[in-house]
Amino acid sequence: MENILFLAPVEADGRLARPALEAMTAAVALAKSLGATWTAGLWGADVQKGADQIASCGAVKILGVTGPAMDEPKYASDASAAAALVKTSGATLVVAPAVSRINRVAGGLARRLGGRVDTHVTELSAEGGKVSAVRWYYRQRLNGSLTRASRPWILTVDPGTQVACACAPGKAVVESVPSPAVPTKTKVTGKRAPSGGTQTIRPDANLLFVAGAGWCKKQADGGTHVPQAEKLIGDFLSKTQSSLGGSKSMVDQSGEGQVISFMSHMNQIGQTGSTPRHPKGLATCCHGEEPHVVGWRFITERRAVNLNAGCGWAQGKADVLYVADAFKVMEEINKLV
Ligand SMILES: Cc1cc2nc3c(=O)[nH]c(=O)nc-3n(C[C@H](O)[C@H](O)[C@H](O)COP(=O)(O)OP(=O)(O)OC[C@H]3O[C@@H](n4cnc5c(N)ncnc54)[C@H](O)[C@@H]3O)c2cc1C
Repeated sequence: MENILFLAPVEADGRLARPALEAMTAAVALAKSLGATWTAGLWGADVQKGADQIASCGAVKILGVTGPAMDEPKYASDASAAAALVKTSGATLVVAPAVSRINRVAGGLARRLGGRVDTHVTELSAEGGKVSAVRWYYRQRLNGSLTRASRPWILTVDPGTQVACACAPGKAVVESVPSPAVPTKTKVTGKRAPSGGTQTIRPDANLLFVAGAGWCKKQADGGTHVPQAEKLIGDFLSKTQSSLGGSKSMVDQSGEGQVISFMSHMNQIGQTGSTPRHPKGLATCCHGEEPHVVGWRFITERRAVNLNAGCGWAQGKADVLYVADAFKVMEEINKLV
């Protein structure tokens, strides 16, 4: 009989963030289809708020590793807290959100426990007691389903693939699990935000706005208009709270500090960039070449603005292509939003 652990760190405010609540949806559904019970394992400075959030979700117990040492994300303390929670729960299946704090320790955790790990899982299911996990391979081009005999089996669930669990909050009883003393030389001395201090990557946004290299190229009047481009894009993002993506050509230029100040390599979409999940996407001044568009794998509705009617977006890659000057289009859109 499988024994499931939903595993997650709490945020700085002690609560569980949306990716964790999504992973919990997957864990609960898996437990249901296996007819198994599940336990929650949380860690952080204080996990009570997170535990209260999931008090009515049906966990047989909620385990917690707490203490000031657990506050900051550090490999040593995170890995030992997670290992202590898995061992105490006796879990055979561990379901966790694929967020940076988990991604960093997942491999080491499997090693410590003598188990196996599969990351970026998008679906979990069980048929006839056999658990299978679905994930994408080769930059989201191939979709595979796998099972494993090794236990514990750690599965990290990609954010944006599940509905966040929305059970009513309550008052939870947290069973404290002691974490072994962790010798660590790492000290968190501060945090640095992405370039320009502007957070432009918003995974929960309804719209992905992509800026391509065309924004920085010579325009019809023979000159470049980068400050105007930066203002148009910046205004649109702050008005709509859309998430900002960039083509490789765009972020490579920005990386040198030459162009759009709030664009960094973190924004790159595509084969060598990210593959975000947003309901809608709008590409501007971007040619829509295959290595870029492969990053749009999970964007449901796609539109593009390009001067070139023969650009890649016109080759079946966008639902709608506006053959127009993006400077003019965005100026009008900014008046409307
Ligand atoms: C191995 C490999 C991996 C790669 N990985 C990635 C990746 O992960 N992500 C990625 O993006 N690329 C990737 N690339 C590069 C990719 O092939 C393209 O070179 C890149 O996407 C081009 O960026 P772009 O469309 O912004 O620039 P360009 O090709 O220069 O296109 C600029 C576009 O802007 C348009 N334009 C100019 N002015 C205006 C205006 N005023 N209004 C409207 N349109 C305008 C032009 O018509 C043109 O279509 C990869 C390439 C390789 C070989």
